[in-house]
Amino acid sequence: MNIRQRWIASEGRYDNNAMYQRCGRSGVLLPKVSLGFWQNFGANDPYERSRLIAQYAFDHGVTHFDLANNYGPPYGSAEETMGRLMDDDLRPYRDELFISSKAGYDMWPGPYGNWGSRKYLMRSVEQSLRRMKLDYLDLFYSHRLDAETPLEETLEALVDIVRQGKALYVGISNWPLEQLAFGEAYLRARDVPLLIYQGQLNLLDRKPVETGILKFCREKGIGFIAFSPLAQGLLTDRYVDGISPDSRMARAGSLTKDRLTPEVLDAVRDLQCQAKAKGRSTAEEALRWVLDQEGVTSVLVGASSVAQLADNLKCVEV
Ligand code: NDP
Repeated sequence: MNIRQRWIASEGRYDNNAMYQRCGRSGVLLPKVSLGFWQNFGANDPYERSRLIAQYAFDHGVTHFDLANNYGPPYGSAEETMGRLMDDDLRPYRDELFISSKAGYDMWPGPYGNWGSRKYLMRSVEQSLRRMKLDYLDLFYSHRLDAETPLEETLEALVDIVRQGKALYVGISNWPLEQLAFGEAYLRARDVPLLIYQGQLNLLDRKPVETGILKFCREKGIGFIAFSPLAQGLLTDRYVDGISPDSRMARAGSLTKDRLTPEVLDAVRDLQCQAKAKGRSTAEEALRWVLDQEGVTSVLVGASSVAQLADNLKCVEV
């Protein structure tokens, strides 16, 4: 009989006590480095590689995995990978994990599979739970603002998702400051305080600082999680000597070649020099900058290998 050995997480996974940071004014501690499933966890990616990355993350105290309904490709398949990981490795550790999903972008055909209606959010959360084989989410986000739907409708759906026990907390991603302020007050008045805001923040894109969103989060006790903190890989050594065929840019998807301007390359080479002088890697230096911004709870990194994730984790002091 072939008895498969179950994976057992490292006993030392919580040894680095510099790892966790309080998420705004809440009871939740999040790892300073969280793992995103946007890319590298879809049906077209080798499952065993995704699995090793997730195992390495959890073994090193990365308790927060971030997903969305349409991560893949194809849509939904990153959540299915998460479901498979639950079955294969992670089910015994479910309550040690903080798993998020989102709805807001196009997911299924027709008028109810996109944007911010109650119909879309309520059905999407059910689908996410089913794909991930979970009975609750830790965090559910509105993924983007829907300017055509009354904000109250989207926000009330978030409240109800919590009241129904489908998610423990709610978050908002990519909403502008004005609508974010409305949402924060609306949710607080209903005793479902906004846990966290997810926005892009890195050395090449400082909008949350420039628009006052980060300051607003700090003042209101909302956590802030920075997505694409490495600008999808630009802020690493990845593109300094050209476009390697296995890189995100070569795959011609979300990171287009026109992003690699001479100015960006100069900035990355500068960063590389500064990092070297401090005995750090380029990615580590870029992530440290994000974590140093007052109010940032966590950097939400992507990784296509264990080596990249290991490199990124160096930004957390031991
Ligand atoms: P990053 O900026 O961390 O980019 C990740 C990519 O950079 C990797 O896939 C890899 O690319 C490269 N990379 C990572 N680490 C290294 C390293 N140490 N050395 C060299 N190259 C490296 O983040 P993502 O853009 O992937 O976004 C992270 C997460 O943020 C997503 O998974 C998702 O959860 C969230 N997100 C949310 C959005 C929202 O609208 N709310 C939008 C976008 C992301 P390569 O494939 O070339 O190896």
